[in-house]
Amino acid sequence: MNIIPPGSTIGIIGGGQLGRMLSIAAAQLGYRTHIFAPEPSGPAADVCAKWVQGAYDDAGALLRFADDVSVVTFEFENIEPAPLIPLSQQKPLFPPYHALEIGQDRIREKTFAEDCGGRTAPWAKVESRAELEAALDQIGTPAILKTVRFGYDGKGQARIMSRGDADAAWAALGPGSPLILESFVKFSHEFSLIVARDQAGSIVFWDAPENVHKDGILSTSTLPAREDVRIHIPAARGLARKIAEKLDYVGVFTIEFFATYEGPVFNEMAPRVHNSGHWTIEGAQCSQFENHIRAITGLPLGSTKAMAPHIVMTNLIGDDVDRWQTLASDPNIRLHLYGKNEAKPGRKMGHITHIEMPR
Ligand code: AMP
Repeated sequence: MNIIPPGSTIGIIGGGQLGRMLSIAAAQLGYRTHIFAPEPSGPAADVCAKWVQGAYDDAGALLRFADDVSVVTFEFENIEPAPLIPLSQQKPLFPPYHALEIGQDRIREKTFAEDCGGRTAPWAKVESRAELEAALDQIGTPAILKTVRFGYDGKGQARIMSRGDADAAWAALGPGSPLILESFVKFSHEFSLIVARDQAGSIVFWDAPENVHKDGILSTSTLPAREDVRIHIPAARGLARKIAEKLDYVGVFTIEFFATYEGPVFNEMAPRVHNSGHWTIEGAQCSQFENHIRAITGLPLGSTKAMAPHIVMTNLIGDDVDRWQTLASDPNIRLHLYGKNEAKPGRKMGHITHIEMPR
């Protein structure tokens, strides 16, 4: 057990809004954070003690970064894992390196979830135009073609509604990067599990939010999820527990599921705090960000109990953020802005949490 006392410095790889909210939670517990990111600045820059600019694949720069901190974590999984091996030999790295390797690769994560007893959508590996045809023969349509690595917020995906869409999908994503063809799941709803595991092996779950995506980007997370979703939670939690134990996971991770008539279908896993857990900042006794900091510093995990009967988190995407004044004047809304300058379409600029307090 690595107990890192308050007053120490936590290193975070990645400097976006997740790094910003992790840094705020760390500061509340008396920790300082240093951020390592390739950009000159980012949402976490306003709230960290030090910003170190460096490439994610620069093993030397990562080692120097680790020198100055007591423990290292990451808020972004689309980084080359190899440079983190020497770092993890020098400083505690949580979540463990192999969780990053699995979580960033759709084929490895699906295989891993299946090995743990989970159900996934039928899928096939695609590395050439001919393999795409063979995969379509096997999987059928509708289907989704995705990059195996480095996809997020609906990027790196192309829908194939009928065989006629295959050329356009291949032109958009192939060749060059390994791809996966997934059958289109006829889900009734989507939900996620946000899970924390500490260094002693204790696991806690927050209530599972029901999630709505628009254009592949999370739009809302609602608590409680409807009954049709809640019936799947025990099976989903059983799978999450197996995954956490097999990875000897430390920190917060998230699994996204499809709710179907045959049970929960594993979609993907993020080895980090997650957008569908932002509601926990005000909506739970201890947020996903605080419990991640607690897990990696060896503190006991806090209670995940929901603080209100009805909670909705809504992302502010692109120019949604222009409504900030109206949102700020609603007493039932907690407004979070990430300090990003330019409201590009599809860019997460902030979020709001609407909390209905018990009467
Ligand atoms: P992902 O990046 O894989 O989480 O995909 C983003 C969103 O696209 C999901 O949350 C779903 O709304 C949709 N999606 C992805 N894969 C599938 C699938 N195999 N079947 C149906 N919808 C999907």
